[in-house]
Amino acid sequence: MQIKPGLQNNVAEPKINLVGLTRSELEKVLVDAGLAKFRAKQVWHWVYHKGTTDFSEMTTLSIPIREELSQAYVLSRPGISQEQRSVDGTVKWLLKFLDGTEAETVFIPEKDRGTLCISSQIGCTLTCSFCHTGTQRLVRNLEPSEIVGQVLTAMDSLEAWPSAQPGRPITNIVLMGMGEPLYNLDNVIKSLQIIMDNEGISISKRRITLSTSGVVPEIHKCGIETDVNLAISLHAVTDPVRDVLVPINKKYPIKELLKACRSYPGVNNARRITFEYVMLKGINDSLGDAKELVKLMEGIPAKINLIPFNPWPGSPYECSDSKQIQEFSKIIMDAGYPSPVRAPRGSDILAACGQLKSESLRLKKRDRVPDFIGSA
Ligand code: SAH
Ligand code: SF4
Repeated sequence: MQIKPGLQNNVAEPKINLVGLTRSELEKVLVDAGLAKFRAKQVWHWVYHKGTTDFSEMTTLSIPIREELSQAYVLSRPGISQEQRSVDGTVKWLLKFLDGTEAETVFIPEKDRGTLCISSQIGCTLTCSFCHTGTQRLVRNLEPSEIVGQVLTAMDSLEAWPSAQPGRPITNIVLMGMGEPLYNLDNVIKSLQIIMDNEGISISKRRITLSTSGVVPEIHKCGIETDVNLAISLHAVTDPVRDVLVPINKKYPIKELLKACRSYPGVNNARRITFEYVMLKGINDSLGDAKELVKLMEGIPAKINLIPFNPWPGSPYECSDSKQIQEFSKIIMDAGYPSPVRAPRGSDILAACGQLKSESLRLKKRDRVPDFIGSA
């Protein structure tokens, strides 16, 4: 993120953050500063492979170059306002950006992978009726430095440097935190290019999933420019129900959304689209709904992720009973679609993706309990 110059003339020009610049942007900045182009490759390696935050540690650069860089630039990432570690290994960070706004990032370790759930916006302009993020008033897009910064800060905290080593803690990334990534697509594209670069953080496109509420006109561009896995927050099988749960449906109804899914670039049986379906008691969880869902999926290489609803104070819904969820899931599986029920993770630290900052806002209001490690 480029920091705005100070208002007074006698204030020194603030330093520019090099984090979040794509490779070509970084090259341009350094070449404009009079350095050779290959210096960008060296700096990139230090920042995204080694996790360096201090130019003085960049020993492949001469000392005068290191000094020159540190006079004009910084390598900054978000600070940690709060860190909570769950007994099941889930870690939730409340991260603070330069303007004081905060967002949450969650790490979810599993047997064969470690997934980092990141945010694309502060708040969300959409108002899905079951999602607490949609009720937050402050909304702005996150800059590439802030999206990539979430990964860097998480890697610092998990001691994950150098990147791309065997046994690395973070193997997968999901854009399922706060915000609608397809409303911030240009910054998301740049961020993903940086995250995927194989001389840096090096997480492959097959291990990255972007979740959208269904911003139909941006879905194709997302596929062409990022080629990452797509997840769709479907949550209902009829337009009248989806209009209430996911109001963007009024603009882009189910039929149009599924049409965009059918032509998502690179989709096939080995690379399915995930449909997220939050289980809301008496609203969208009848066995008739499950059968309709199977019909809608016809011809789409799909996986259906059933998400137990995570209630928040004042939320107008309840989670479906677990027996209902199992029966719903069976109908979908019998039709040949994988239908995992998302296991609640980090429930002791309220780490559910999609609800990220909400709890922290409430914690703030009641003067926040101190950070804790592993209390159940
Ligand atoms: N805006 C994007 C990505 C962020 S939301 C989207 O809507 O897809 C990530 C996922 O969390 C979505 O599937 C969302 O529907 C789900 N989610 C939001 N609130 C939830 C809640 N209270 N319980 C369970 N899942 C929720
Ligand atoms: Fe926004 Fe996604 Fe929440 Fe809907 S579910 S309000 S799109 S973050």
